[in-house]
Amino acid sequence: MTFKDIAEPKQFCKLYALAKKVELVVVKSDKNRLRYTCAADGCPLLLLISGDMTTPGVSVITLVEHIECGTTYDNSVVFNNSLVF
Ligand SMILES: [Zn+2]
Repeated sequence: MTFKDIAEPKQFCKLYALAKKVELVVVKSDKNRLRYTCAADGCPLLLLISGDMTTPGVSVITLVEHIECGTTYDNSVVFNNSLVF
């Protein structure tokens, strides 16, 4: 999966967290890289998005699938304006 810039996957992850009712934690965020994990204990979710030299924009480099880890209603990456764009 590729994105045109680093802002696009940030919005994607906010909507994913909202839709799946999970809490994603931003481990690293700069202008070229994004790394997310799950706040639930024992969940192996790892999402690394970064640019590479073969495609323009950024793409998913590593994705370790999310397991069923419960529903959360508090989320540090989703704000009240997350649905406005
Ligand atoms: Zn999880």
